[in-house]
Amino acid sequence: MRAAVWLGAGERAREEEVELAPPQPGEVEVEVAAAGVCHSDLHLAVGHFGLHRFPTVLGHEGSGTVTKLGKGVDGLAIGDRISFCFLPSCGECRQCLRGRSNLCEPGSKAAFSGTMLDGTHRMQRSDGTALQQFLAVGAFAERTVVSARSVVKIPTNLAFDEAALVGCAVVTGFGAVRNAGRVQPGDRVAVIGCGGVGLQVIAAAAKAGADEIVAIDPVPEKAELALAQGATSFSAPESVTPGFDRVFEVVGRPETIENAWRLTAPGGAVIVVGIAPAGTSAKISAIDFSSEKSLIGSFYGSGNPAAEIAELAELVAKGELDLSRTISHRTDLGGINDAFDRLQHGEGARTVVEF
Ligand SMILES: [Zn+2]
Ligand SMILES: [Zn+2]
Repeated sequence: MRAAVWLGAGERAREEEVELAPPQPGEVEVEVAAAGVCHSDLHLAVGHFGLHRFPTVLGHEGSGTVTKLGKGVDGLAIGDRISFCFLPSCGECRQCLRGRSNLCEPGSKAAFSGTMLDGTHRMQRSDGTALQQFLAVGAFAERTVVSARSVVKIPTNLAFDEAALVGCAVVTGFGAVRNAGRVQPGDRVAVIGCGGVGLQVIAAAAKAGADEIVAIDPVPEKAELALAQGATSFSAPESVTPGFDRVFEVVGRPETIENAWRLTAPGGAVIVVGIAPAGTSAKISAIDFSSEKSLIGSFYGSGNPAAEIAELAELVAKGELDLSRTISHRTDLGGINDAFDRLQHGEGARTVVEF
């Protein structure tokens, strides 16, 4: 089967014929239908997460159809339509038991090492080299094998392209607003970064009843989309006046985290959703803690991603959440490097790779 393979940091993807082993107990094979190109994929491709994560098949925001079942898989059948959940949580560790399945200990270990839960690999290059699957998914491939915990059944009438987005951008954005930021009616909200996730943060803040939602991005072309998602105004980063109850940083850069802190009102909070490169640090004025400003991290929705993916997928299927306008480009596997280039230049919203 064909897959996009990255051999090292900063290299372009190469489309290759790769081998896929059958699903082992507790695993499923999925025929991938759609996969979004997300900032985390770009981070890994350029080496922000370290140089030990290659060779790899990227792609973690995807959807498809279950084609094979390993032994002992309950609650899934061949032909089921699914979204990937890139944190295969166990339901039993300390983090899972306290409602933070997004931080599941064994799940994170597999996701961040690009292996199955047992530490082994299912994809290999034609020369026999094992391939990592980014976040235990590896969706930029015609098929993949993942843990049954890495898939969530979706409604039969939900389009695959939208289902892909639900599994990362949507659950990350909505979870940040609901579980980490706990946005309340009447809040003044700022959102720094209007890419795939930022646009979902805006939509979620609007649904939560925020009074004012200022979308902030240096690319003026993002204004139209941000306003359509529910932003009340759009600004360039340098022209925003402080005074927000919740500032969502959805870029992942020290300077935007510092700017978010500056924009936050007394009693307010910065929620950092963007993922900053390893080794960077942000500097904030510590005296501001005496005005009860707080700094909150948010990863993959800050709750139980699988449960929330199921809930948000229902919402999209019922037409209560419109994702169509946040898909700006569609391509096949051959167009993946162009999609990464667009992401790097802040061009458009989401590219979805369709198979
Ligand atoms: Zn993602
Ligand atoms: Zn767990």
